[in-house]
Amino acid sequence: MAASATQEGAVERIVIENCAIATVDANDTEYASGYVVVAGNKIESIGAGKAPEGLADVVRRVDGTGHLVTPGLVNTHHHFYQWITRGLATDHNLFNWLVALYPTWARIDEQMTYAAAQGSLGMMARGGVTTAMDHHYVFPKGSGDLSGSIIRAASEMGVRFTLARGSMDRSEKDGGLPPDFAVESLEGALAATEETVKKHHDASFGAMTQVAVAPCSPFSVSTELMRQGAELARRLGVRLHTHGSETVEEEKFCHELFGMGPTDYFESTGWLGEDVWMAHCVHMNDSDIAAFARTGTGVAHCPSSNARLAAGIARVPDMLKAGVPVGLGVDGTASNESGELHTELRNALLINRLGAHREAALNARQALRLGTYGGAQVLGRAPEIGSLEAGKLADLVLWKIDGIGHASIADPVTAIVFGAAAPVTLSLVNGKPVVENGTLLHADEDAIARSTRDQAQRLARIAAGS
Ligand SMILES: [Zn+2]
Repeated sequence: MAASATQEGAVERIVIENCAIATVDANDTEYASGYVVVAGNKIESIGAGKAPEGLADVVRRVDGTGHLVTPGLVNTHHHFYQWITRGLATDHNLFNWLVALYPTWARIDEQMTYAAAQGSLGMMARGGVTTAMDHHYVFPKGSGDLSGSIIRAASEMGVRFTLARGSMDRSEKDGGLPPDFAVESLEGALAATEETVKKHHDASFGAMTQVAVAPCSPFSVSTELMRQGAELARRLGVRLHTHGSETVEEEKFCHELFGMGPTDYFESTGWLGEDVWMAHCVHMNDSDIAAFARTGTGVAHCPSSNARLAAGIARVPDMLKAGVPVGLGVDGTASNESGELHTELRNALLINRLGAHREAALNARQALRLGTYGGAQVLGRAPEIGSLEAGKLADLVLWKIDGIGHASIADPVTAIVFGAAAPVTLSLVNGKPVVENGTLLHADEDAIARSTRDQAQRLARIAAGS
């Protein structure tokens, strides 16, 4: 194994050279032809030209000719279980889509969440994601150990992972959208969340599994669960995640129910801070953006999902200008059926340019930064991942850019952001290969395709009979 010691005190090395490198460090350092030396689970050295000579314990040399090396992609918002409810309610806005799908989602069980997690993780990993997250908030009674099944799937795939343990306690009878049988009690949700953090969260440098506290959204969660959820996260020293300011309907809902807009509501419940990141943040005015910047609250920008549900365009260039940390998210695949993150680099760039005089709203390097370092920032892991620097963890991707899709584009970063989704020749997570030549090393794609189809059909049958 690449990260293990060959003998007492010796650490195995992987040397990658002859490749273009975009480090995404603070200065956007790039090398037209350079090298990366990986020692154990960390980057030992990186630079222009050939790797240093005389390195001991080199177990593998990779000729990166025709490739761009970047930090591994970091996904900051997803709902894995939706992998088995893709392609439904395809012409709906958010609220109508939720109402159409909640009754089906409320029938999920452990077998389904495991298969769906494998599908979601596999699709992302083969496209260069090295750190994944899952915001899981549907916990039907008697459905088994859903959190455990999701964490197991991530661990088997070999990717770094944050489980955002979600919850809902505002159902139809309290003016919320989920059906009554799909929600937990306030006390039940808090206790189960605390148990999940204590069982699975690893706070150490290089952790492969972390847990965040993540009530679903203002329109599916009581004010008390928001408030006590924030207190719980801070008592346990973990991060907070939720959906925010996604649609005009949500804004209206907040004004009607709370007498204020979403950002003011979040502030009033303890939900702004540098330990918080929120999905979407589409409907933000100048003072909302200023509040996020002042408090260091992060944003998971999900351009494809926002387009799929006609939610609107998040003001990413304004957020970046104000200093708001912004990462990219696939979002659940019931509202972004492709489930890939490398295509979100392109979509983020294109969607933020829509409108007159917006041709420079985001550039290729900013898009790459959103998908790497920005993601690491919002997950609270910027000291460990998100850029290629000596001492950081060896999470990286070799993108093949000498094929038909990219060879005629001179600039490597422009090629992978503006061009087609580039093939992944090799990705490393924690110094260990996870994908080689576009193929998952630790999972069988055909078996996942079969099991996700079977579980999707089983869920549809159960939902139809209920
Ligand atoms: Zn979402």
